[in-house]
Parts: sequence; structure tokens; C-alpha cells
Amino acid sequence: MRLRNIPGADEAVLNSPYCIKNPSERKGSWQSVFLSEQPIHIEIGMGKGRFIMDMAAAHPDINYIGIERYSSVLLRALQKMELTPLINLKFICMDAAEVTEVFAAGEVSRIYLNFSDPWPKDRHAKRRLTSQSFLTRYDAILKKDGRLEFKTDNQDLFTFSLEEIPKAGWQLDAFTRDLHHDVVLNRGNIMTEYEEKFSSLGNPICKLIASR
Ligand code: SAM
Repeated sequence: MRLRNIPGADEAVLNSPYCIKNPSERKGSWQSVFLSEQPIHIEIGMGKGRFIMDMAAAHPDINYIGIERYSSVLLRALQKMELTPLINLKFICMDAAEVTEVFAAGEVSRIYLNFSDPWPKDRHAKRRLTSQSFLTRYDAILKKDGRLEFKTDNQDLFTFSLEEIPKAGWQLDAFTRDLHHDVVLNRGNIMTEYEEKFSSLGNPICKLIASR
């Protein structure tokens, strides 16, 4: 998803009450940005925000934080929030590589990765959000009983991710290569923008759940 250079996007993100500026200053005190103290779930690479907004509406007992690298993409979510504000949802515009500078140990209860960029070239493997180097970062911010949930239609990225999990010392709790026909894992599934697009083309959706 590359929607760069939307005039005014940086400024809109900077001025939005839904987007947290200087997020590293909130490290260890993320509960204070929400009205209620409740578990924090984050989505990394949230795109235009459909999944995390639907999740926040469906689960008012959870505080959600959506992370997106590009202001031009995040802008779409901010525009939707202006029409339908959700008190349990905030956004951060940043690179996921910085998550350990932004969240303290055990501050996050769940991490969602949805249709992450595949970075198909071997030399870019470390950039994949399910690579060992990212799993190590997630380990540093997740609660002891926290978990990671990952969905994609990219079979190669999914196979890579299944292999990275044990290498990083994580355990695989469940996985499927056909989520929409898996009665158990599909229960309560909320579709992302990419999930709807690719499943409508006939691509099976893969999902894994991992913990430490
Ligand atoms: N999760 C959405 C969905 O499933 O519809 C969007 C998927 S899109 C393919 C991947 C998104 O992740 C893009 O918006 C991209 O900018 C964002 N992204 C990729 N790498 C990132 C990173 N290192 N930090 C933050 N966001 C990232």
C-alpha cells in the first residue's frame, strides 16, 4: 500500500487528537491515553485501519493502538475516526522497528500483524515483520501470556513465518492455511481490507497464533 505524497498528510497526522505524537514519551504509561485501564492490543502495519476500527468497536473492553509507517495511509483511518470516533482506539505513525522504544516490557497483551509486506528478496528477510529480529522486539513488549496473531494470503511469507517462530524461541499455538474454512480459527474473525480483497480473488487466507 503506497499512497505517498498526499499533500497535508503529515500535518493532519500531527494535528489529529487520535494520533499520539512523540510516542516514546508514553513508554510505560500507555494506559493514561485511554479513558479506561484495560488490556492493550496493537496492530502493526494497520494500513487504512478497517480491521482495528472494527475490532475496537466490537471489543470496548480492550484498548487498541494502530501503528502505521506512512502518514498518507494513516490519514484514511483518521478521516474515518472523525466520522465515527472510538474512545478505545489511538494511532501511532512510526516504523515498527522502533516498538521497543515506545512500549515498556509487558505493556502489550496482543499483537496483530495483517497482510504484512512480504519483502520477497532473501536479502530483505530481516525487514519482514515476522522475522526473528521482529519477534525479539515483540518479546520485549508483550505480556508473559501475550500472543501474536498473523494473517496473510502470501504462502511463502507464511511458510517463512512458521519457520521463524520456533527459531526465535516462540511456540506455535495454532495455524491454518485456509482460515475462512476453519470453523475454530475463523470464529469471530474480523476481515482486514487486504483480506477482503484477496479472498474475493479466491486466495486462501493463512493465519497463525504464537506465544512464548
Ligand atoms: N493491515 C492492512 C490490511 O490487512 O488491510 C494493511 C496491509 S498493507 C499490505 C501493509 C501495511 O503495513 C502498509 O500500510 C505499510 O505501510 C505498513 N507497514 C509495513 N511495514 C511497516 C513497518 N515497518 N512499520 C509500520 N508499518 C508498516
